[in-house]
Amino acid sequence: MRVLVAGGAGMIGSNLCEQLLSRGHEVFCVDNLVTGRRVNIEALLAQPRFHFVQHDIIHELPAFALMDRIFHLASPASPPGYTRVPIETLRVNSEGTRRLLEMAELHGARLLYTSTSETYGDPLQHPQSEDYRGNVSCTGPRSMYDEAKRYGEALTMAFVRTRGLDARVVRIFNTYGPRSAPDDGRLVVNLITQALRGQPMTIYGDGSQTRSLCYVSDMVSGLICAMESPRAAGEVVNLGNAEEHTVLEFARMIRELTSSTSGFVFGPPAVGDDPQLRCPDTRKARELLGWEARVGIREGLTQTINYFRKLLDLDGVRPAALAPHQNGTVHRPWLKRIDGLRHERSS
Ligand code: NAD
Ligand code: UDP
Repeated sequence: MRVLVAGGAGMIGSNLCEQLLSRGHEVFCVDNLVTGRRVNIEALLAQPRFHFVQHDIIHELPAFALMDRIFHLASPASPPGYTRVPIETLRVNSEGTRRLLEMAELHGARLLYTSTSETYGDPLQHPQSEDYRGNVSCTGPRSMYDEAKRYGEALTMAFVRTRGLDARVVRIFNTYGPRSAPDDGRLVVNLITQALRGQPMTIYGDGSQTRSLCYVSDMVSGLICAMESPRAAGEVVNLGNAEEHTVLEFARMIRELTSSTSGFVFGPPAVGDDPQLRCPDTRKARELLGWEARVGIREGLTQTINYFRKLLDLDGVRPAALAPHQNGTVHRPWLKRIDGLRHERSS
């Protein structure tokens, strides 16, 4: 099949592209590299069935050959990322989603929209099942992301109901793994890179908040199952790993697995409205798709640590772009790229 992956140079997207290629598909990766990285797809570029189009899907899409499948993963996903580009985040999940839905309609393609557990906000139901409507502030500090994703879901369902489009929504719960940008700013990346560099490991708040972390290979297989299952048409499905731990427990695991001597530094809570509990109810995914996460947390963390060990090249010279920021905050070179894009647009 011909498969378009919007956001295909990101962490989940590039792993998805690789898996789709290995299944024999022709893959078109569309990405503006706002948070994704060319290095994630560098090895794929050598394959004749892989095509990369650098493009911002907020704007009119280039003409493509007829697609069979469209995966929509394009959106900043980390709290520091979407906080820095709030309007772009709202636009890619609204205008960008509309463009891909219209394209799917025109091409007769099937579409999968990646939403998020953030649509449940700071949840009052635990674990979170798909019928829970969430506890979200439509003007809060995370609203550019969670409300954007809620709008994207609503738009997708409107295309399903009124235009008969074959589309589905997946709510992804925290997913980690190789190919994350080292300056991404999310929990696993921060803690692993800090532990490997022997720097203090940053815990926002007291570390008692919980998350349930899913390894990327599990997420990729779940996305493909959701796309290929006819029973998922018009449905909303949680995908994630239901093994729940506190942030402090994850930090202890990472310190042990990296054999690091780093200490913990407790700072103020993260971006406001930081959800205190998060764990997916995955019954629907099991029943509808026959899918469940299989990779244990220690195994997934070990794979991710190995990836970052190589990337940071601890035995050699560290790339300048990865140098720790002097004041202890996360260094994010891609922000410079966004400023550059803004400048280009305004001039
Ligand atoms: P990521 O930042 O690594 O990947 C997102 C990709 O989208 C990047 O390559 C980025 O450059 C691209 N992108 C952003 N805006 C774009 C635009 N306007 N046009 C074209 N490309 C654009 O993040 P990820 O963790 O791989 O997340 C992938 C998707 O899954 C996102 O939609 C995210 O909201 C969703 N999601 C991820 C998680 C998670 O824990 N990783 C959780 C919930 C939802
Ligand atoms: N967090 C932390 N230290 C970090 C980064 C994140 O303690 O260096 C916490 C953050 O406050 C949140 C949890 O880890 O409670 C998960 O944060 P992440 O940014 O990975 O994603 P979120 O689930 O908030 O979207």
